[in-house]
Amino acid sequence: MDVVIIGAGGAGLSAAKTLLKQPSSVISSVKIVEALSYIGGRIKADDEFIPGHRVDLGAEYIHGFKTILTEVVDESKDEWESRLDEDEELLEDIFIIAHADGGPDEKPTKNGEYGVYYLGKEDTLLRYDTDDADFQYLSEAIDNLKWEIEDDENDCVKEKTEEAVNISLGAYLDEHIEVPSRMSGILESGFGNTAACTDLYKISLSSTIDFEKYWEENEVAGDTRLHSKIGMVGVVDSIVEKHLKNDDRFSIHLNWTVASISRDSNGVTITSKDGTMLKADKAIVTVPPPIITSNDIVFDPPLPTWKLEAYKMVGMEGAIKIIVKFNQKVWPEKVQNVIAGDMPIPEIWFRSMKTKVNDGEYETCHLAVGFLTSKAADNLVRILEECVDQDRNEKAAQIILHQLSQMFKFDKHIVDDAYESAIIYDWKSIPSIKGGYMYPKVGMEKSDFHRMAKSIDSQLFFAGEATNTGACCTVQAAMETGKCAADEIIACT
Ligand SMILES: Cc1cc2nc3c(=O)[nH]c(=O)nc-3n(C[C@H](O)[C@H](O)[C@H](O)COP(=O)(O)OP(=O)(O)OC[C@H]3O[C@@H](n4cnc5c(N)ncnc54)[C@H](O)[C@@H]3O)c2cc1C
Repeated sequence: MDVVIIGAGGAGLSAAKTLLKQPSSVISSVKIVEALSYIGGRIKADDEFIPGHRVDLGAEYIHGFKTILTEVVDESKDEWESRLDEDEELLEDIFIIAHADGGPDEKPTKNGEYGVYYLGKEDTLLRYDTDDADFQYLSEAIDNLKWEIEDDENDCVKEKTEEAVNISLGAYLDEHIEVPSRMSGILESGFGNTAACTDLYKISLSSTIDFEKYWEENEVAGDTRLHSKIGMVGVVDSIVEKHLKNDDRFSIHLNWTVASISRDSNGVTITSKDGTMLKADKAIVTVPPPIITSNDIVFDPPLPTWKLEAYKMVGMEGAIKIIVKFNQKVWPEKVQNVIAGDMPIPEIWFRSMKTKVNDGEYETCHLAVGFLTSKAADNLVRILEECVDQDRNEKAAQIILHQLSQMFKFDKHIVDDAYESAIIYDWKSIPSIKGGYMYPKVGMEKSDFHRMAKSIDSQLFFAGEATNTGACCTVQAAMETGKCAADEIIACT
């Protein structure tokens, strides 16, 4: 079989890797076509901002220790470690801090790093283990959310779950949990990371609970990040180097935007924007949901209504990273992360990197990474609309500088003096991505995930982070779907 894969993100690469494990009597060629000029999709690094380091502009954290993603890390571990200095660790511990994660029950990382919350309206900074009663109440309530519906009178479990399909997370919290109003800002900012959506009235309660349960059951708790000399892009490089590049059956076309996909009894024809055609027996479509729902690719015959309707249940809003470099820390020494309510930047995390200045001489630079999604990302885009390119970075940096000074009570002059430069990356502005990552809209059912993932006539197969029937929003979710689509193709033989 000849297979064409549309999209070179985690899903597409994992699909290619799985297909190429088959002998050539089964799989004769695998071609990836990708609209962008690089491999990785939402895994992308800036290699110039800090010489010798790869700053992640998209996916950065590795969630859990035993996943399809960590398999790749394990494969390359020794090779990567040989690139690091003796005192450097390949995997850094992360103190994850988003809604209830990172709450009072957590332990700091092994280096003693921890997270804090900032209540913008009352100018209060809370350590994760604060005894603030409202904070503890919120933490516990959100942590219990995943069990709340099921535990409530066993007989009603089914009805309750069905009812929950049409309830938003926001409405449920209003009715059953009554979040203390001074905590609502950090709640929104937390979900701005977890669901990439700050409007809790748009997010499906039942799918959110399903996701939480999936995490709990399938992933050992704990989060890490690859050393900045490797970055999440190391995972992309590893798959390409070890599984794709040296196989004669594999090829990739970058800057190749698919405009249409047509099918008949002879197979699938994939046509690019400039009219180039590729023929295949089967195709795997891994593009993000907004590409499907905005009809950027014309399907002939058209995609069936059941599939389109399922894709329309996926929400995907803006996501921006602002990465700011400082010559000294302008935040408390051990603080790794802050979730800020009612502030322009809902979340900022901190990293330090050692850079070589001369032979044997190093200096350390410190990064603050602002992460904005949904409403916060849209607000920033509005503010930056008037600026030309370079000014945009400076303007975005000024917003973070101001927020850091306010939250951590560093004199603004000290913050300004420590500031060196900044870059921003806006994922919604990339025409072949159009946003951050998926959230389930109110009304989305489990079956919608299956409909998105379901193949058509054993010719068209579907993958990508949002089509995962377990939990979405991550690199491993994307990789799992790519593997599933490839396995389904192999099963056709
Ligand atoms: C800012 C940000 C931070 C994140 N942080 C994390 C994190 O810390 N940890 C984590 O696990 N996950 C994180 N994620 C999510 C993770 O990056 C994604 O879930 C995952 O990478 C998606 O992979 P994918 O293959 O499904 O989609 P993509 O990576 O988007 O791949 C799809 C590809 O299809 C291509 N394409 C689209 N249309 C066409 C067309 N017409 N023709 C040809 N090609 C086309 C696109 O260009 C793209 O490369 C983050 C995402 C963002 C944006």
